Amino acid sequence: MLLNKSISDIATLIKNKTISAVDLVNEAYEKIERLDSQINSFITIRNKKEVIKEAEEADKKNIGTKNPLYGIPYSLKDAYVTTKIRTTCASKVLNNFLSPYDATVYQKLKQAGAIMIGKNNLDAWGHGGSTENTDYGGGKNPWDTSRIPGGSSGGPAAAISSRMVSFAIGEDTGGSIRNPSNMCNTSGLKVSYGRISRYGVIAYASSLDSVGPMAKSVEDLALILETMVGKDKFDATSSINKNFDYVKDLHKRTTKIIGLPKEFFGEGLDSRVRKIILKVAKEYETAGYKIAEVSIPLMKYGISIYYLTSLSETSSNMARYDGVRFGNSRQLLSDETKRRIMLGSYALSAGYADELYKKAQKARTKLIKEFNKAFEVCDVLLCPVTPSPPAKIGELINDPLKSFLEDLYTGPINVAGLPSLAIPAGFTTNNLPVGMQLIGKRFHEEQLLQMGYVYQQLTHWHIKKPPLLNQND
Ligand code: GLN
Repeated sequence: MLLNKSISDIATLIKNKTISAVDLVNEAYEKIERLDSQINSFITIRNKKEVIKEAEEADKKNIGTKNPLYGIPYSLKDAYVTTKIRTTCASKVLNNFLSPYDATVYQKLKQAGAIMIGKNNLDAWGHGGSTENTDYGGGKNPWDTSRIPGGSSGGPAAAISSRMVSFAIGEDTGGSIRNPSNMCNTSGLKVSYGRISRYGVIAYASSLDSVGPMAKSVEDLALILETMVGKDKFDATSSINKNFDYVKDLHKRTTKIIGLPKEFFGEGLDSRVRKIILKVAKEYETAGYKIAEVSIPLMKYGISIYYLTSLSETSSNMARYDGVRFGNSRQLLSDETKRRIMLGSYALSAGYADELYKKAQKARTKLIKEFNKAFEVCDVLLCPVTPSPPAKIGELINDPLKSFLEDLYTGPINVAGLPSLAIPAGFTTNNLPVGMQLIGKRFHEEQLLQMGYVYQQLTHWHIKKPPLLNQND
């Protein structure tokens, strides 16, 4: 019940001492114990006694607490390294791996007083979009447990959707925050490349990886984001915090024109998803925004640029798991991950690198220019997150090409380094969630949050709870 409330409501109750951090932690464990065997959203759950002790200490110190995240239970995608809790990245290669240092984001949240409950399931190394490529049992969707929760941050999205935690931290290389948010009816923000430090997130593709918050609403995302942003001396690509007041700015209206990029509505898009996104455009229009059709012609190569870049980079990043320095034997890598290493090594090999990797980088620059041009005529872009609603378990993991195509509308956004927000937008007739994607100019997260906030003030999709929960949850 408490974890169904917004972060700001919980924060007020905590400050007033109407509820305690211990109450919240107890509720989180009760839900996990009752429901997680049905959806597999956690890989590691922290020892309850230890966490309760942490919550008791937080309750004792609860005097003049300023940070709204104080005492609030959350989880981390199991791709963030921590010294005291193992990090597996969903692969047996890192089973029981303890890092010598903590990820920056984890440290920041700890300082803010948030309480980490455990680490969530994902596609190993971020390789996938269905939370099936994991050595710890495939994730399931709380809206229909015969279906995938999306991925690769499927665990965090499923845990938030089932109110096991108040929020979670995901990672997005080509859609991993947005894809599962859209499939589990939650909200997720992929920030501009450089907005949040990547220090301590296990690298998939270093020029694309972005850290970001996942939660039940845009208002919650804004609150979490404020704690996460900023320059970090351990990540040279992290940028100076421009001191946006994300929460206060939610009430500003800096957007006038919403662009509908026509390449995101072409062949391959499920008609149910198309209908829902076009309905959203109408709703914005009724609310006073102008809608303009825009074009990003190079999107037809977007997915190729994404996969050439991400697989090349992952083949290089995965070289550190040689069984000598880190973890166990690389024989334990999954077929999906081995395939990606092979494809990436091929794209980088002598004789092919000019034709494949380098060409993709040239196309990447051009794609960025096209997005910038589109932003000359509109302020934000509105489009689908994935071409189809959540697939049945087994459908994607057994069809790698189909799985790659699910990233059609998300991967190219990482290629361009842009911020992008995924929020609930409606349901199919068989009660499967469908999300929408809002894409913004680089470093203009505040504009996306405002637009998402406007929509969540007008609609109630985001407060709908999955059938896995009962009335009192
Ligand atoms: N599904 C995409 C991929 O497999 C994105 C994954 C991610 O963002 N980590 O590459």
